[in-house]
Amino acid sequence: MKILVASPEIVPFAKTGGLADVTGALSKALERLGEDVTVIMPKYQVIDDNKFGLEYIGKKVSVPISNRVEEAKIYRGYINNKIPVYFIDRVKYYDRPYLYSTPQGDYPDNAERFIYFSRAIIETCKAIGLKPDVIHCNDWQTGMVTVYLKTLYNNDSVFNNTATVFTVHNLGYQGLFWHLDMHLTNLGWDIFNPEGIEFYGKINILKGGLVYSDIITTVSRTYSLEIQTEEYGHGLDGVLRKRRNDLYGIINGIDYDEWNPATDKYIAVKYSKGNLSGKWECKKDLLQTYGIQPIKKIPVIAVISRLADQKGFDLIAEIIDDLMRLELQFVLLGTGTEKYHKIFKDIGKKYPSMTGIKIGFDNVLAHKIEAGADMFLMPSRYEPCGLNQLYSLKYGTIPIVRATGGLNDTIEDYDPVKRTGNGFKFFEYSPKALFATIEKAIGIYNDDLRWNRLMADAMGKDFSWTNSAREYIELYKKAVKKRTKT
Ligand code: ADP
Repeated sequence: MKILVASPEIVPFAKTGGLADVTGALSKALERLGEDVTVIMPKYQVIDDNKFGLEYIGKKVSVPISNRVEEAKIYRGYINNKIPVYFIDRVKYYDRPYLYSTPQGDYPDNAERFIYFSRAIIETCKAIGLKPDVIHCNDWQTGMVTVYLKTLYNNDSVFNNTATVFTVHNLGYQGLFWHLDMHLTNLGWDIFNPEGIEFYGKINILKGGLVYSDIITTVSRTYSLEIQTEEYGHGLDGVLRKRRNDLYGIINGIDYDEWNPATDKYIAVKYSKGNLSGKWECKKDLLQTYGIQPIKKIPVIAVISRLADQKGFDLIAEIIDDLMRLELQFVLLGTGTEKYHKIFKDIGKKYPSMTGIKIGFDNVLAHKIEAGADMFLMPSRYEPCGLNQLYSLKYGTIPIVRATGGLNDTIEDYDPVKRTGNGFKFFEYSPKALFATIEKAIGIYNDDLRWNRLMADAMGKDFSWTNSAREYIELYKKAVKKRTKT
């Protein structure tokens, strides 16, 4: 099958979160399974042309936007020297310091930037002679592709047999814009209604993806069910319930080329399930990086995250004083909302010898944390899939999670009687439940025998992409079948 993976961010080129990991790793897994994969994304300022060998292919596309036509240059690079990646180069839209937002907030022209991107994806297919069987769209920034293929390009022979699969990586980010941006789409007001892309008087581009795609997926089975409820539906649960027969949950895999303590080039000493001695060295190295003294027998609990309401950090803030009485060290790497920057900086000042707080985005430090910590905390309010708990398992860093979305599907609560499980899990979104779970985890940590067995079990789990990529291929086939019927 000819599959075009369209995404606003893709590893190794540009990343703000899990979406980039997923689209990069899935593309590689599909290619390994013999599929004909092409990838497309915007050409941002952060992408280093020389490092990735990007080349202008001598082609431009003319993309209508509102009453203008704006040209983009097409560049090409490769993933693993094999998978072609096309980059839409429109300086005015993408040559900026950030992908979507500055610390002050979203770029005000995001509607224009990503409506343009979606239409440029379609025009690029035509320019390079690509007739995809499936365009796999990811998140709201590519949602308009699905709308255009069923409207403006419905009778275009290039896309006669092109189906769309739309993956929701996080329903909380919808691409909501005021109705007067409709002119940017070059579509009539007939699609601006509750059955189309209207959402309480606004344009909702994610909703476009949910309504117009042939198949919808999200990144875990639990999340696919949660988003059909009012509590987790962000106002779109009705739309999702309506399409429940076309809605699937496929758990993300992880890329063990990048995340594996036996081969990780960023960590102090490599280690594996069979030889854990390096982990203590990694712990010392991590704490040294944070400027705190390592203490044997005291666990290090870590967080690496976007600092957003979704992630549940209000719970940590409420129990931090009680937690620090439990004798543990806490390290955090994250960036996001100012409110959380302040909360964690204050915690760092109050407990300087037992906490390490780094506000920022740092991939190398993220690897060191996975290797050096004993436990990894994800108390999310909601979590579509979550990747760090999967990295943590591989590094023998035991996850403590709330039972939501992908965290629920991938982490099995430790049972002290049967000695089964791969982490610790709590259900109720409350500081009390979180505290009790951390206390339980520390109790097991103090029992070397149990903890070593738990680490070994966690490290033995396989969350590679192969199985999930196979599930995507089955859905692509389903989408193609559906498309031929209509
Ligand atoms: P989300 O996509 O909601 O941010 P995920 O757990 O799915 O959450 O993926 C987050 C990804 O981003 C992981 O690869 C994680 O290691 C990385 N990440 C998040 N924050 C940081 C940070 N401050 N520094 C380095 N990597 C980070």
